[in-house]
Amino acid sequence: MPRILKTPYMNAVVPPISVSSAYYFRDTEEFRRYKEGELSGGRYGRYDNPTWLEAEAQLAIMEGAEAALIFPSGMSAVSNTVCALAQQGDSILYTGCAYRNLRTFFNEHMSRFGVKAHAIDQANVDQFNTDFSRLYDPETCSLVFIEMPSNPHMYLVDLDYIRSVIDPERTRIIVDSTFASPENFQPLRHGADLVLHSCTKYLGGHGDFLAGCVCGDAETIEKIQLYRNVSGAVSDGMSAFLLSRSLSSLPLRMAHFNKSGLAIATALEANPMVSRVYYTGLESHPHAALARRYLTGHGGVLSFELDCGKDEVTRFVDALEVPFMGTNFGSHHAMVEQCAEFTYYKLSGEERADIGITDTLVRMTIGLHDPALILDDIDRALKIARSMPGVVPMKAAATAPRIARTGSQVGQFSI
Ligand SMILES: *Cc1c(COP(=O)(O)O)cnc(C)c1O
Repeated sequence: MPRILKTPYMNAVVPPISVSSAYYFRDTEEFRRYKEGELSGGRYGRYDNPTWLEAEAQLAIMEGAEAALIFPSGMSAVSNTVCALAQQGDSILYTGCAYRNLRTFFNEHMSRFGVKAHAIDQANVDQFNTDFSRLYDPETCSLVFIEMPSNPHMYLVDLDYIRSVIDPERTRIIVDSTFASPENFQPLRHGADLVLHSCTKYLGGHGDFLAGCVCGDAETIEKIQLYRNVSGAVSDGMSAFLLSRSLSSLPLRMAHFNKSGLAIATALEANPMVSRVYYTGLESHPHAALARRYLTGHGGVLSFELDCGKDEVTRFVDALEVPFMGTNFGSHHAMVEQCAEFTYYKLSGEERADIGITDTLVRMTIGLHDPALILDDIDRALKIARSMPGVVPMKAAATAPRIARTGSQVGQFSI
């Protein structure tokens, strides 16, 4: 429970937002009672904030964890967790198709402190398991970092297998399940020690703040918290409040994403102009069998390849009227990107090929729109990309949010 001093109006349905950088004590005796745990309350804003505690308690419950911590971004949740737990000389094994900045953090920054990270490609499940067993050294490996589902292909790993080969005394399994949210995947119930999220995505859900979190056993979380006290990677009261407010509607929002995501993925798969769809809810996904074991829903991000050249894909993305062109996912906004031209533009062609980012790969997050609106938009844009005759502007274009980009964001939401 959040530790809150007795103040007026504590019967508010929505707890007050705390933005105080410091907390006061009436006298030394009162502080003594605080030190001895007789009095609840805060001491200084880098250590304590009741609005964080509220969000952290909600997150712990959602993940079935003993405790949780929030951070100002997903990357700070990752970097603080790893820095709190890794020692010089340790090795870390991680999923090779993981988030781009995560790879940079491991390869360029942790390496400076004598921590060696090895990426393992997770596109092929058997190959991943073989490589994992070969590279796993119980003497040095303190952390296994798994992004699951991966972005943008939604690759999964066999957590049970990993659990069975590691030494649990020596090695912790951390799962970044941002792509699934706690609604669709519960890594702690499948043998992970810690679960981590970029709350900027589904958990925040409105595209209006950045945050991150880590959830796990109380002892490990306390260790990470002591590091957070020193690193100073703390959220602010307002972001913590926005997160806490958003968590209450997560089940409803995910129900929309799961249902509409599957409907759109199924329709795309049947479209002859689409050559491939990566969505774990489809039987055609290479990891569909693992998806049945670990996931209870598949969310609102779809990656697909078009059956055409790179320039036609660019024309397709540019012709879409509903989604914003940009990165981010999990909010009520629909967004789209041609991956090679957008998120991965700094990588060489060879580096992109290594992680499966082809020139024709598109990632779309569907927002809270009626799926029929998204599908109409896709159909129309595909015809424009192929220069097919008879394409008419969208019926719904007048109310589609991309049109209103400079004004109020009035969209057509199905919930
Ligand atoms: C976005 C993202 C992150 C980074 O989160 P930020 O909040 O942007 O710092 C980490 N992991 C995954 C899987 C993500 O999608």
